[in-house]
Amino acid sequence: MSNEIWVFAEQQEGKVRKVSFELLSAAVDFSKKTNQAVGAVLLGNGLQQAVKSLTPYADKIYLIDDPSLASYTSDVYLINMAPFIKEHQPSVLLGGATSTGKDLFPRLAMHLQTGYAPDCTGLTIEENGKLVAKRPLYGGKVFAEVVFSEARPQMATVRNNTFLVNENLKKSAQVISIPSHTDPAALKKKVVGLEKGAGTKLDITEAEIVVAAGRGIKAPENFKIMEELADVLNASVGTTRATVDEGWRDLKDQIGKSGKNISAKLYMAFGISGAIHHVLGIGTCKTVVAVDTDPNALIFNYADYGIVGDLFQIVPALTEELKKVLKE
Ligand SMILES: Cc1cc2nc3c(=O)[nH]c(=O)nc-3n(C[C@H](O)[C@H](O)[C@H](O)COP(=O)(O)OP(=O)(O)OC[C@H]3O[C@@H](n4cnc5c(N)ncnc54)[C@H](O)[C@@H]3O)c2cc1C
Repeated sequence: MSNEIWVFAEQQEGKVRKVSFELLSAAVDFSKKTNQAVGAVLLGNGLQQAVKSLTPYADKIYLIDDPSLASYTSDVYLINMAPFIKEHQPSVLLGGATSTGKDLFPRLAMHLQTGYAPDCTGLTIEENGKLVAKRPLYGGKVFAEVVFSEARPQMATVRNNTFLVNENLKKSAQVISIPSHTDPAALKKKVVGLEKGAGTKLDITEAEIVVAAGRGIKAPENFKIMEELADVLNASVGTTRATVDEGWRDLKDQIGKSGKNISAKLYMAFGISGAIHHVLGIGTCKTVVAVDTDPNALIFNYADYGIVGDLFQIVPALTEELKKVLKE
């Protein structure tokens, strides 16, 4: 068994996703405690830039660069990853709790006959290399701590922004190229094309600026003013569970305990009361601005700047002012 902590370095169009750097940063911290090497597992096609960006974050990069891996399908990734994981037997394998991670990891765990903790919001490691994973259950009502039996690797997917990216890492990873095992005849799925969803905004977990509105926005069509503000700031639009439950917004934009953790440089909350379930998702945001009509709204306890006022007056005024200022 190899004495390594591996992170699945998920990439899109050759760019490694932020969550992978977060997990590599955590893995480097863990490795200091357990004295293990850190490996990044990178699959795709045309990955020179991705390799370069990962080099400071790992001791080794296990690279499978092949045209058959240009687009993700569970088939082709499984065929390529399972054999070399079996061969190397890392002690830990982590991935982002992204749509790809959630699709790939349970399949991999089944193939490898090992344990898997999905959608974790915390991870620690003991000196003997035992991983302890924390994950929400019943929509975030309780948290479970998961430990693994003897099977290896210990596998977990982890939510974005659970860990911070350590930009000071200066490793110099050795690149280990692994031949592709793709047998086109064995593939059951084929990507025939990719269609981008409406809008070009970053996911709220990766955006540097997030502007969000809660139930105070009163109706789904009123989110138009939030979209206009977001356009001016090049921001993404988030929300609370209240509006998601109303069917006003998509679950993918929900911030909080049963939604997503964000780590924006600037988070602006409009008409959001500041329930603990919501603010749990904004803990690593650098600057928080809150606007609410209720001076006693809890959100002000978490805000660096607060305005007691009506969002329907403040948002359009802010958008107009920012348009002028940013133009200059
Ligand atoms: C197990 C569990 C998990 C949960 N997970 C999440 C989660 O992940 N994320 C999440 O967000 N919530 C979550 N919740 C729900 C959470 O407890 C709150 O109910 C929710 O966050 C409230 O959303 P809100 O702030 O939009 O609405 P409200 O609490 O109704 O607040 C609306 C705010 O808008 C203000 N307002 C009204 N009109 C205006 C105006 N014109 N201008 C400015 N302000 C105005 C009001 O003063 C008020 O403060 C969870 C709950 C449970 C039980």
